[in-house]
Amino acid sequence: MLPLKNKKCITPSDYHGWKWGEPAEVNLNNVRCKFCDNIIKGGITKLKKHLGAKRENVAPCPRVSIQARKNIAQQHQELHSEKVSK
Ligand SMILES: [Zn+2]
Repeated sequence: MLPLKNKKCITPSDYHGWKWGEPAEVNLNNVRCKFCDNIIKGGITKLKKHLGAKRENVAPCPRVSIQARKNIAQQHQELHSEKVSK
């Protein structure tokens, strides 16, 4: 299911992000958004900002579902709280 070859480079967060995008090119730096079909340059991290509308040098997704956006926000919180508890 996962279209990646170098799996050791994938963080759990990145793995999750591939639900909403797919590699547009071999080098994985360009990801096609499954909601709006735009090509996001900068990898899965950028795609998640695109979907979460973080506005950090990336255009917000016009078609992302509220469910997906909540999912991403939740993920961020979980990752953050993990870091804090350790
Ligand atoms: Zn999009």
